[in-house]
Amino acid sequence: MRSVARWPVWELRRSLIVVLLAVVLLAGGLVVAALAVLPADRATAVAVLGAAGLTALGVLHTELAIGIERLRRRLPEGAYLDLMTVWTFAGALVLPPGPAALTVLGVYGHLWFRVWRRAGVAAYRILYTAATVVLAVVAASVVAGPARVGVTGDIGAGGSAADYGLLLAAVVVYCLVNQALVVLALTLSTRRFGWRAALGDWDEHGIEVSTLCLAVLVALAAPAQPLLVPLVLPPLLMLHRAVLIRQLQDRVDTDAKTGLLTAGAWRDRAQRELARARRRRLAVAVLLLDLDHFKEINDGHGHLAGDEVLSAVAGTVAAQVRDDDPVGRFGGEEFVVLLAGLPPGTEGRERAHLAAERIRRAVSDLEVPIDPSGGRTTVDGVSVSVGVAFSGADRRALDDLLRSADYALYAAKRAGRNRVRPMRHRSTGRR
Ligand code: GH3
Ligand code: MG
Ligand code: MG
Repeated sequence: MRSVARWPVWELRRSLIVVLLAVVLLAGGLVVAALAVLPADRATAVAVLGAAGLTALGVLHTELAIGIERLRRRLPEGAYLDLMTVWTFAGALVLPPGPAALTVLGVYGHLWFRVWRRAGVAAYRILYTAATVVLAVVAASVVAGPARVGVTGDIGAGGSAADYGLLLAAVVVYCLVNQALVVLALTLSTRRFGWRAALGDWDEHGIEVSTLCLAVLVALAAPAQPLLVPLVLPPLLMLHRAVLIRQLQDRVDTDAKTGLLTAGAWRDRAQRELARARRRRLAVAVLLLDLDHFKEINDGHGHLAGDEVLSAVAGTVAAQVRDDDPVGRFGGEEFVVLLAGLPPGTEGRERAHLAAERIRRAVSDLEVPIDPSGGRTTVDGVSVSVGVAFSGADRRALDDLLRSADYALYAAKRAGRNRVRPMRHRSTGRR
């Protein structure tokens, strides 16, 4: 009992635990029900054999890619792109729901045993992932069912237009069920819904579409020419590498301590947003933030607690701006934000000032739980000073904006800290 009480899953929010349990129980119930309704005939025996074949290929795929997978597991995840779709979705197309779900359990069970468990990933995560894939596979298998004989049952027969329509519908259902459940868990754990996270980006879609295409090819080849199916392994391994490169790129751009953009990555993103705003004749603002008397937090609670505070402030700042506004760690305890797409003129200036005030207030409301040697406690009374620079029709360069925001930040510090200061106009001098 004591070891159950220590499971990491209990550290999650209650709403997340409820959803997790519901999804896992629903998936488990569906697997049992889908297996129970299978008739004891030759077709079922062939389907179970097919599920075993797909599972074996999934296992072989993981084993061949084990170096890449273990490295991926140690990197911070953006979206966790799952190449096992090739086997699980192929199963959904050629197999009835029960055997198709067995493929999912086999492939993910092996992945957990060989990769995730060793990387110290909590078991509930793979359980939830596998459960979401089971639900997606069962739904897609039901949708594709009527097309099974025409399209994938016998390669000589070919399929009608309606059959191919069902195939496409199965793809859509698979993606929607899977993505909806992933986004649900993400939203509950971060308490924030972002369209960017929900919709993913073009890189992710490219990889997703590639795995789905390979899955369809596997499904078409499997019934008539099963020996040709392993031909998808080499392109699949190359795709696996492409995913690794993407994750490495994310790692390079992410500050490990705070999860924000590194200074270099922020600059690149900020330049892009600046150029985009200029094309649309919109204004931008740069906010430079510096924690007040941060040294005292380090001195009072230790540097590890200081790091916790830093990370909490970073999360707070990022939560106060839009997904499209790049937020970076500028230096030690300094952060930088670009507010893109502001209206030009006074309205934009006011909006930038309001955003900076909102951030300042959110930081001053923070209570950060820390774990120093003397037991758990919280740090409060954290504050930031913010300098704001604004550029509309004057089209100032990024470095110029940063310089102005820096001057304004010093003015905020001099004025007593825990406040927002706009840049001064050039004619009135600098500091
Ligand atoms: P103020 O800005 O209000 O003038 O005072 P301050 O105490 O925040 O300013 P100062 O620049 O003197 O100190 C910044 C401190 O931030 C010093 C440094 O030890 C700490 N710091 C910088 N980076 C990190 C980090 O990554 N982790 C921790 N724990 N502390 C850091
Ligand atoms: Mg400081
Ligand atoms: Mg500083």
